[in-house]
Amino acid sequence: MLYLTEPESLGDLLPNEPSYRTNQLRDWLYTTPVLTANEMTNLPKPLRDAIDPQHWPFDLDIEQTADRGQTKKWLFRCKDGSPIESVLMGYANRTTLCISSQVGCAMGCTFCATGQFGFDRHLDAGEITAQVAYANAFLATTPLPRSPERVTNVVFMGMGEPLANYRNTTESLRRMIEVMGISARSITVSTVGFVPGMWKLIEEPWPVNLAVSLHSTIPSERTKLVPINKRYPIDDVVEAALAYYKAKGRRISLEWTLIADENDSDEEAVGLARIARYLSAHVNVIELNPTPLSMDRPPDHDHVRRFVGTLKREGANVTLRDTRGQDIDAACGQLRLRAASTRDPQDG
Ligand code: SF4
Repeated sequence: MLYLTEPESLGDLLPNEPSYRTNQLRDWLYTTPVLTANEMTNLPKPLRDAIDPQHWPFDLDIEQTADRGQTKKWLFRCKDGSPIESVLMGYANRTTLCISSQVGCAMGCTFCATGQFGFDRHLDAGEITAQVAYANAFLATTPLPRSPERVTNVVFMGMGEPLANYRNTTESLRRMIEVMGISARSITVSTVGFVPGMWKLIEEPWPVNLAVSLHSTIPSERTKLVPINKRYPIDDVVEAALAYYKAKGRRISLEWTLIADENDSDEEAVGLARIARYLSAHVNVIELNPTPLSMDRPPDHDHVRRFVGTLKREGANVTLRDTRGQDIDAACGQLRLRAASTRDPQDG
């Protein structure tokens, strides 16, 4: 698989070719990706035919479209059958790709479809990076109606806890930033509070954005929603986030999935605002996108407005995020859930 090989080692796969072929191939994989090897027009036909089966580390299984063509959701199947979800979202001035870093997730957040599936395996750095390359190859032929024709922003907010797959996450960051040329400032690594990874990320050379999913500020409540809180308590998460902010100068975002009767109280809003002020962070509130395996529901609109109003009154910078693609199983893990429930179990 071409993406499973480091970009600098591609020559090892082409021992009988001149070295400039390696550079040409690297460009087709990372700089101007194409969907099929046959489109790599400056490579000889026999070489294109030989590499075609090795091109992508996954096959497209399901593609869904929503928001009048501005949202695409893909379920890919890795060569071992593992599912990966990616979501492409077009805006006026940016095209954002949400990518997965693991197959499943061990963090077990109760409101998340991926968490309810459990953990299968880490994604390889190539499987992570190839999601971005695939989106660029797709956009080259089928741009979203009113958005940039390349991925401008990448968010690690799909399946998995990226900092629990540290080596592959950072290698994929290296490839995106140093090989594909995506600005580190346009990449966001999202964590549910995997504290050792947060500290290690400070040591990396790139000023990527860090998003921290809090979901509750009350320790016992947070442990219920986000079980990893037991191992890495919220105070340690906040201290690591502060250290990251100070080291990188990048404003932290605090993510908050709003769930009726769970974390939508005034007490939670006041606690969240206090942490946001302490970190000079920006708060993103997103209403829960319900999953079939959980009874959790989003609050009604009045309640959402009240929660956001309290945050603002308490001095927090806050954005109420739109929930993209609600008609297409857009929350992380949901497309996989649907594929699993409609697939013959013997299909794997
Ligand atoms: S919300 Fe994120 S960290 Fe929690 S289970 Fe889902 S994928 Fe894992």
